[in-house]
Amino acid sequence: MKLCLLYGGKSAEHEVSLQTAKAVIHALDMNKFDIFPIFITKEGKWIQGPQITETIQDIKQLQFSNGGNELMPQSLNADYDMVFPLLHGPNGEDGTVQGLLEILNIPYVGNGVLASSAGMDKVVMKNIFAQAGLEQVEYVSFIRSTWDADREAAYKLVEEKIGYPSFVKPANLGSSVGISKCDNRDELEAAFEDAFRYDRKIIIEEGVIAREVEVGVLGNDELACSVAGEIVPKKEFYDYEAKYADDTTELMIPADIPEKSYDEIRKMAFMAYKALDCSGLARMDFFVTSDGRVLINEVNTMPGFTPASMFPLLWKNTGVPYPELIERLVDLGRQRYEEKQ
Ligand code: ATP
Ligand code: MG
Ligand code: MG
Ligand code: MG
Repeated sequence: MKLCLLYGGKSAEHEVSLQTAKAVIHALDMNKFDIFPIFITKEGKWIQGPQITETIQDIKQLQFSNGGNELMPQSLNADYDMVFPLLHGPNGEDGTVQGLLEILNIPYVGNGVLASSAGMDKVVMKNIFAQAGLEQVEYVSFIRSTWDADREAAYKLVEEKIGYPSFVKPANLGSSVGISKCDNRDELEAAFEDAFRYDRKIIIEEGVIAREVEVGVLGNDELACSVAGEIVPKKEFYDYEAKYADDTTELMIPADIPEKSYDEIRKMAFMAYKALDCSGLARMDFFVTSDGRVLINEVNTMPGFTPASMFPLLWKNTGVPYPELIERLVDLGRQRYEEKQ
């Protein structure tokens, strides 16, 4: 099978994607897969490298600083049996690359255009979850021009509807980039400024005091749910540093939660998956409050995917080791492609 890996990308999650690519290459059985790499630079250039026939030692080898060919995305080789977009965040996890692959009629791993784009936009995602009857925190949203027209009115609305503590987030991002927790007006104002640096739309949520529990879902029509995992950050919340820079965050797998909570999480994860029309995979993030209430926080349609990331670890603990997980995802991509023909 000719498998093309797309990695890097024009998003704040570029570095994470390179780590993922290295790990996926390491895990792929080269007797089954011919691996063709495409590195997307931070500026958005597509650089095609030679077929990979050996394990990668250093991620620099994946960047083809001397020797890759620049490629127009629309001239992607239509002979690939499958493309695996190992991309997080805007321009990769958000349906744009998926749309290109649809137009080129090349099978690909993971979610389609709709689930990817709806899942990337936290406002659209939460509106869909609300419509599906899923419990979640209160939220409001602003676009930059509305805020700029009357900033005072925007802050007042947040204070009335959400209060403190609140979480301010760019609508379309991941890895906690641009997210702030606010306990007062000064912090709220600074958080708006910061979040609007990343996006023209932001979301402000009620901050909850709760345990953070995540599950992985695999499947197209028939769904499987992994065991649950709990994130125990040693800081105020699970921010970018806690995710990638320091190793103080603990992942507890399986999470030590009552069976009743797990059943509720599994049920809600499937409902959310179907509401967004996901396929292939998704990681669903939840809050579990001290009185046992389960709230959905968000979906990630291309979750962190190194062997040390939550999604692969959840599946490892459910009996699906990393190399097998990759093969299952490739099979699911193929199935979805064939069903559409
Ligand atoms: P990723 O895609 O990497 O999972 P993200 O950038 O999409 O992250 P969120 O998962 O929405 O961001 O939030 C990041 C973290 O911030 C959460 O894991 C949690 O620690 C904290 N957090 C977010 N929203 C809330 C909230 N409403 N109440 C309490 N904590 C929150
Ligand atoms: Mg996310
Ligand atoms: Mg994410
Ligand atoms: Mg999250």
